[in-house]
Parts: sequence; structure tokens; C-alpha cells
Amino acid sequence: MREFKLFIDGEYCDAASGETYESINPANGEVIASIAKGGAEDVARACEAAQAAFDGEWGAMTSAERGSILARAAEILTERLDEFAELETLDVGKTITDSVNIDVPAAVSYLQWYAEVTDAAVGETIPIPNAGQVDFSLYQPYGVIGAIAPWNFPLFLGMLKIGPALATGNSVIMKPASITSTTTSLVCECFAEAGLPAGALNVVTGPGSVVGEAIVTDPHVGKVFFTGSTEVGRRVIELSAQNITNTSMELGGKSPNIIFADADFEQAVAGAVFGLLLNNGQNCIAATRLLVERPIYDDLCAAVADKLSSLVVGDPMDEATQLGSIVSQEQFDKVMRYIEIGKEEGATVACGGKVPEVPGCEKGWFIEPTLFTDATNEMRVAREEIFGPVLVAIPFEDEEDAVRLANDTPYGLGSGVFTTNADRAQRMVRAIQSGTVYVNTYNQVYPQSPFPGWKQSGTGVERGMHGLLENVRYKNVIMDISGEPIPWFG
Ligand code: NAD
Repeated sequence: MREFKLFIDGEYCDAASGETYESINPANGEVIASIAKGGAEDVARACEAAQAAFDGEWGAMTSAERGSILARAAEILTERLDEFAELETLDVGKTITDSVNIDVPAAVSYLQWYAEVTDAAVGETIPIPNAGQVDFSLYQPYGVIGAIAPWNFPLFLGMLKIGPALATGNSVIMKPASITSTTTSLVCECFAEAGLPAGALNVVTGPGSVVGEAIVTDPHVGKVFFTGSTEVGRRVIELSAQNITNTSMELGGKSPNIIFADADFEQAVAGAVFGLLLNNGQNCIAATRLLVERPIYDDLCAAVADKLSSLVVGDPMDEATQLGSIVSQEQFDKVMRYIEIGKEEGATVACGGKVPEVPGCEKGWFIEPTLFTDATNEMRVAREEIFGPVLVAIPFEDEEDAVRLANDTPYGLGSGVFTTNADRAQRMVRAIQSGTVYVNTYNQVYPQSPFPGWKQSGTGVERGMHGLLENVRYKNVIMDISGEPIPWFG
């Protein structure tokens, strides 16, 4: 069995307690690895190592040197793409096709892009009404960044935190989700081989309530980037009050996908299906509320149900598989419970809702993609984040009604609008309360594109240039060049 250890101060090591736990392949229930179960003592050591790296060799490097290390790490990850993709699939249950074509390449693309912009956080000169003084600003790294990631895109979400943090000269202590820790532990090899100084990147695996809380409250940590559920995010914000630690929070969602009757029908069906099913619906921005203009509601729902029913749910390692397994038994139970709740609430199961037979994976946690019709926005299945392959279709009457339904949610992460009317698209993108709006597409991800969360979907912005700036602190400098004493003391 493979073993994955903590990575502290440039070396793999056991947890101080010596404890480990098992990582399970959700497609067949087999144990794939033993993972070091870190604790508060390990976090403290990692944070000290991170601070020492920042105060030492790593902090002294130029932006060009940092960029070449990030670029080299991206190259090494690319050379090892198949190995990382296979491990990600075994750990998360996502299809090997997605791991090879989406997860690992996306992780690489973030390292590559941030490698190019290591010196882009530039300050400004500020005009002041005193010719004897200059006012300018600087952006400087926090020192030690704490990064906490969820289980759905472990490597990709890890690299989009590590990339900009290292690019701007910070050291990092990273905690992946305990159930999907393998690739984040392994990727430290790529950084070490690329020449990253010891301590600049540390990975501590283990339970969130112990390792995560220790990171958020460690006095070395200047900023925390958290991606996960709104519930745990709330706890992280509470804990961050202890040291008044800055946080960027990327939280949950219940994103609407709004289909107008004037939309291109085929494009809308594809958008509804892909909007839901990237990563089997275990996607923060998944478009789980399908709002459809009344005249096309029945036809569109029928076409979406046909498409969902035609998808191949199977062994994630099989290239023919389009939907793999759910990440864990706990998540499987949660999704199945919501399917029952939807039925009890009076929604109609237009397709799916059952556990499919997957030959060779009898012990895996698979769920048929499910469409609820005859649903209302008041139902729990339309209000609460299910985080699985479950779509809830709700009819709307007109543009105003669509905006009302779209915004009637505590979340504000993503949204989609399908229309061929450019005026309407412009009105909708302004009216919808979400950090990202897709028009006639969905689930597109680029390193350049910022990803903010509105309302209870988060604070701050990750990715893109805005994401880079979240890794640096703003400093204003007023400098006298007149040589004169301050008049009051004159
Ligand atoms: P989670 O909130 O349960 O866990 C997220 C991380 O926090 C994990 O590493 C976990 O170990 C850690 N953690 C748990 N308790 C903690 C505590 N008390 N203090 C500090 N850390 C703690 O989320 P999850 O189940 O891993 O992931 C699914 C959730 O993540 C969904 O709600 C999804 O919408 C969200 N998500 C958001 C984005 C985004 O960019 N907005 C992206 C992906 C996932």
C-alpha cells in the first residue's frame, strides 16, 4: 500500500503522533493508501519552517527566481501527468478522462500562469499637495499563508492556492481535505525537484477540526485561503478573529442556470447537463437550479432527462465512463437522502434517482444523474447544497421572475443565462447576484479569470490578477524629500 506523509521543512515525515489513517477508493471501497494523520504539533512545526523560509533563502529570492521555480514545478507535474491523474481518480472517484484532461492540466495551467506574473503586484505613486514629499504604495507578501482545500478538486484547487502564494513570495502551509489528500502530498516532490527552498511549501494532512483549526489560529499565519462549505467557513471566520487574521473564503453554492425560450435549444440542453455534471455535480459552482421559461419548460426538461439518462455511469478508471462515483459513503448517503427529500416535497423524478449497477465496482458509491421537475424554489432540494448529480428544474414566467428566483438564495457563487438576445443577456448579467455569470456556456475555468463569491458563497477573490493581489498586503509610504523639518516642530 502506498504511504503519503507530511511535508515539512523540505522533507517528508511522519506525524508527531505517529498516527495514520486510510484513504479509500470510492469506486470499489478498497484502501488505496495510508496517510499521515497530522496534528497541532505538526502544524506548529510547519508554520515555524514556513516563517524561517520566508525570513531566509525563499524570502530573499527575486521574482524571476520564484517564477522559474514555479514554471519548473509545472513542467515536472506535466511530465508526471498520468501518474497524478490516476491517483486523483483512485482517490476522488472522478473519471480518468476528467483527471487527464481537466484536473491535472488545470493545476498545471495555474502554476504556469502565476509563474509569469510574479512581479505583477506593483504599487502606485499618489499625487499629494506637497512638492516636498512623495507618496507611493507597495504590495508585500504576508509571510506565511495558510491554505485549506476541499475534497472535490484536490490538486487543482491546491495549485490555485499555492501558485499565487508562492508567486508573490509567501511561504505556504497547506491542508488538503482529509479524504482526498494523496496528490497534494505527492506534488511536494515536484516543488522540491524544481528547487523550492525547504520550508517554502509545507503540507500537513489530517482532520480539519485539528489541523485546519491549528492553521487558522497559528500566529505565524498572516492570511488564510479557505475553500469548503459555508458551514465550516463560518467556523474559520470565527477562529480568524483570534489573531485578526485576514481570510479569503470560497464557499458553497446553489447556482441557477436560466434558460430563456429564445435560447439555442441544443446549446441550452448541453449547458444544463454540463453545468450540473462536471465532477459528477460535486462542484461548488454546479448549476443545480435549472430555471426554464414556461413555454419551453416541458420540452427542455424532457431533452435534459434524455441526455442525463444516456450518460455512462461506470468505473472511473474506464475511459468510456462519463460519470464516476461519489467521493465517499458519507457524501453518497447525503445525496440519496436529498433525493428522498425531493420526492417527499412533491417534486417529480423525471430521470435517475437510483443506484446504478456498475459491474466490477459493486462496493462503490454511484448515483444515477437525477432530474427533479415540478419543483419550486421553496423546496429544500432547491435551497440547500446537495453536492451531487441532482438537478432541480423550476419554471419561470418572464425576465423579472427569473431574476427573482435566481437571487432568492443565500448563495451567490455562479449562474448561467442562455439567450440569443444580447440586450437581455446584458440586463441579466447585471441583475444576478453572483460572483460569476456565464452566458451561453458554463463551467469554464481559466487561470486569468477571477472567481469571487457573493453573499454566503464567500469573501475575497481567488484566481486571476485579483487572486494574486489577495496574497499581498497594501502599504502606503509618505517620504519627505525636502530636507526640511516638519514645520510644527520648526
Ligand atoms: P468542508 O467545509 O467540509 O471542508 C473543507 C476543508 O476544511 C477540508 O480540508 C476540511 O478538512 C477542513 N476543515 C473541516 N473542519 C475544519 C475546521 N473546523 N477548521 C478548519 N478547517 C476545517 O468542505 P468539503 O466537504 O471538503 O467540500 C465541499 C464544499 O466545498 C462544498 O460546500 C463546496 O461548495 C465547497 N467548495 C467551494 C469552492 C469555491 O471555490 N467556492 C470550490 C470547491 C468546493
